[in-house]
Formats: sequence, C-alpha cells, structure tokens
Amino acid sequence: MSSDSSRLLPRSEELRERALKRTPGGVHSNVRLSGAQDFIARAKGAWLYSVDGRDYVDYLLGQGPNFLGHAPEQVVDAVAEACRGGVIYGGQHELEVRASELVCRALGWADMVRFGVSGTESVQGALRLARGATGRTKVVRFEGHYHGWLDNVLTAVRDGKWGAASAGQLSSHLDDFIVLSWNDADRLAAVFEEEGDQIAAVITEPVMINAGVIEPLPGYLERMRELCTRHGAVLIFDEVISGFRLGLGGAAERYGVEPDLATYGKAIAGGFPVSALAGRESLMSRLGTGEVNHSGTFNGSVMATAAVVATLTSLFEDPPYERVAKHGNTLMIGLRDIGQEYGLPLRVAGLPPAFHVAFGDAPVTDYRSLQQLDLARYERLSKALLENGLWVAGRGVWYVSAAHGEDELDAALTRFAAAVAGEVG
Ligand code: PLP
Repeated sequence: MSSDSSRLLPRSEELRERALKRTPGGVHSNVRLSGAQDFIARAKGAWLYSVDGRDYVDYLLGQGPNFLGHAPEQVVDAVAEACRGGVIYGGQHELEVRASELVCRALGWADMVRFGVSGTESVQGALRLARGATGRTKVVRFEGHYHGWLDNVLTAVRDGKWGAASAGQLSSHLDDFIVLSWNDADRLAAVFEEEGDQIAAVITEPVMINAGVIEPLPGYLERMRELCTRHGAVLIFDEVISGFRLGLGGAAERYGVEPDLATYGKAIAGGFPVSALAGRESLMSRLGTGEVNHSGTFNGSVMATAAVVATLTSLFEDPPYERVAKHGNTLMIGLRDIGQEYGLPLRVAGLPPAFHVAFGDAPVTDYRSLQQLDLARYERLSKALLENGLWVAGRGVWYVSAAHGEDELDAALTRFAAAVAGEVG
C-alpha cells in the first residue's frame, strides 16, 4: 500500500488494489489520477457516499455535469422510461427533434444542433466545420484553455513555450494553431492583421473555467467577435463547462456576445454523457449536405436525447439560476471569511456557479497570471478538504448545483474551517 492510500478505509483500499491491477493508474480518465480517493457507493443531490460509509458535500459534481445534483429524478426517470422502448435505433426518433428544438430555444442565437457523446468530440466537429466552411487551416486558441484530450488541442507549457502535452501526441497536429494569451485584444488584432486571410476560426472558452475561473475583460469578447466577422473567421465558443450552467444561454447570453458555433456538454444532460455542437444554419447545414463529415454511432441516442429533454425542460420550468447564485455567493463569502479568520491569503474568485479557490493575491487576467497564485498550496489543502468530507478538485475549481441548499452550506463551511484549522494548527 502506498502512503498515499493510507487514509483509505478497508473497502476502498481493497477496491483500489483491485483497480490498480486491471486499470492503468486505477482510473479511466487521467484527470482522476490525483492520488488515492475513496470509492463511491452512491450519490444523491449534492452528496456523495463512499463504500465505507463516509459522506461528502460535492463541489466537483463529476467535473461539472451534475448541475441539477446527482441522480435528478426527473432526468433519471425520463431516461429509464424512454430506454424501455429501445436504447439506440440507428434511425431517427422524436426525442432527437425535441432535444434539438429545446437546445436552440435555450441558446437563442443558434439555428441547428448536432449531438455527440463528449465535449472533446464536439470541439473536433466545430474545428472541422470551421475549416471546411472557410477553406482555411489556421485556428487561433488561447493559453490554458482546455478543449479536450486529442492531438490537435492538448497543450502544455514547457520552458515558457506551448507544445504537445503527452507522449505519443503528434505535435505536428498543433502546427496550424496560433496560441495566444487570453484577454489581450490588441494581440489578437495584430495576429488578424498579419494572417487574417488564413485564419479559419478563433476558439475560446468565453469565460475561462477549466484552468481556474477568469472572466473576459470588458469589451474583449466583443472585439473578438468584431475581428472574426471582419476577417471572415468563425468564432467558436467552447461552452462545455459554461453552457447551461451560467444560465440557459450560457456565457454567450451572460456576456451578450454571439458566436457562430459553440460546443456544449456537461450540464446539458443531468449527468448523462451528451455533448452538442450548435451553430448558425449557414455553417451547420454543411454537415447536412455531407460536405463536412460528422458521425458517431451513439450520437442522438434515446438515452442522450431523453436526458437532454428532461434536463432542459427542468431548467425552463424551474430555473435554478437564482438559487445557485445565492448559494455560490454565500459560500464564496464564507470561504473568504474563514481564510481571514485564520490569517491565510485565501483567494476566492470567479462566478457563483463556478468559482476558483487558491492562495495569493496577484491580479489574474490570463493563464500566466493565474500561475502567479500559489496553486500548489491549494492543492495540498484540497487533500485536507477531502479528508474533512468536501469533494473538491485539486486545481481549485468549485461547481455549485441546483441541489446545494442551506444544509450543504452549513456542512461545507464547517468542514472547510475544520480542514483549514488542521492545516494551520
Ligand atoms: N472543453 C472544455 C472547456 C472542457 O472543460 C472540457 C472538459 O473538461 C472539454 C472541452 C472536453 O470535454 P469532455 O471531457 O467531455 O471530452
């Protein structure tokens, strides 16, 4: 047993040992390679329960998808009911139509949608469609923005330079990408000035959330929009995290800037694996003519579309956004207060439905300034938070769901204070 797993109770420890024999690193996604964690037996609302009987208030939410809380009954029931009539047809069905209509209604600006299974895939669809429609190859993207794990989008910084992040990754796939620092409109304008006629698309998280929550500076997205329009480039918003979480219309609605294409995932389907590529008809129709290929055995399955219909219906009929904002705001203030009480330079920043906790007080506008914070210190604290019954990500991003209420708030603040006391004491 590694020292890392010394905190595990017997059942989790046994499962971890079995998992390590049959699964590389004991996990099915490298994002979860963060050390020994309890095995989960079940989850409901904002709570996770381990196989050894521990409970956790969950602010990771499966990396974001459980925006309605775990196992939202209206979604789980709708999926179970629909799947009794077949799970996948290899043919069209009414739920696909209803799900597409609901997505377009929620977004407002988008005319058409194609469903997929993961955010990674829908991003690939967006990039291919932008290149197919413009006949250009180059794509502008930004430091620290995550767009999935495939060769042409996965990047890491080494010795101050961006490049491939993984052994086995073909770095030549990154050749046509221009990687810029975010929130710098003048730099973007200069690149368009130099090579605007070769740029197929600009892809951005409209609000940075994956690496740490950073909002766009006033006017930045507007300028990006204007530059793309002027130079005939496609503006792609990667709303895999922000979509349906910041509001029914996601970040596009919040910041009042409409992209040409956008990708969604996570909160769109109450925890089920569904993603979407949405966009304007002039672009999306190229998928329908077959000019640009986009395929997938599981796209638009009964399970997926039933989950989307139930989730979006719930978001339309009982919008949780005010509740989520209230919980997130109070929680952010509470965490800051605890930091002050213990004399810690705790920084809690971002938006109530998705905020970032770290140590330090550097002004943060992009990925590099984010690195000026003491992220490693928070990562250490996150282990103590886990020990104290708070299920949170080591990189400091906290997600709030519609299922977080007063009880969860009290438990979260009590547990956070206990973890902090243990660390400083
Ligand atoms: N885009 C963003 C902004 C993301 O945060 C993620 C995943 O976290 C992805 C794309 C990839 O989505 P998936 O993990 O569903 O492939």
